[in-house]
Amino acid sequence: MLHPCLRCGACCAHFRVAFHWSEAESLLGGAVPAELTAKRDPHRLAMRGTESKPVRCVALQGEVGVQARCGIYAQRPSVCREVAPSWESGEASAQCDKARLAHGLPLLTPQDWIDPSGVGAPPLPQSA
Ligand code: SF4
Ligand code: SF4
Repeated sequence: MLHPCLRCGACCAHFRVAFHWSEAESLLGGAVPAELTAKRDPHRLAMRGTESKPVRCVALQGEVGVQARCGIYAQRPSVCREVAPSWESGEASAQCDKARLAHGLPLLTPQDWIDPSGVGAPPLPQSA
């Protein structure tokens, strides 16, 4: 089963992605590539592309709603890790639903997490 996020990417093209500057400071253990961020205020950075319209994070690869993935998945900011796809863990996600609606995509349902092949668990999300 292809993870639903890999056919989506809507949340990466809808929300401002802001986080503490230390997440992009390698000396403090931060892993977010600093060159992909912009200073938002004295305490926070934002992923480039998420503060302008239309929103699209600079790290997002592919086409929203077709095939999409985060180009810095292992290094993505904490706020990205907190966005859960609806029904992956048995409940709806307001952020996921809002982003998908904004892009004209149907909301995820519990059925989206059923593996018709029955051979295993879904792969890890690559976008959200
Ligand atoms: S969390 Fe939801 S909106 Fe974000 S990529 Fe996954 S399915 Fe799309
Ligand atoms: S998950 Fe990746 S592509 Fe999506 S907003 Fe975060 S950094 Fe950008």
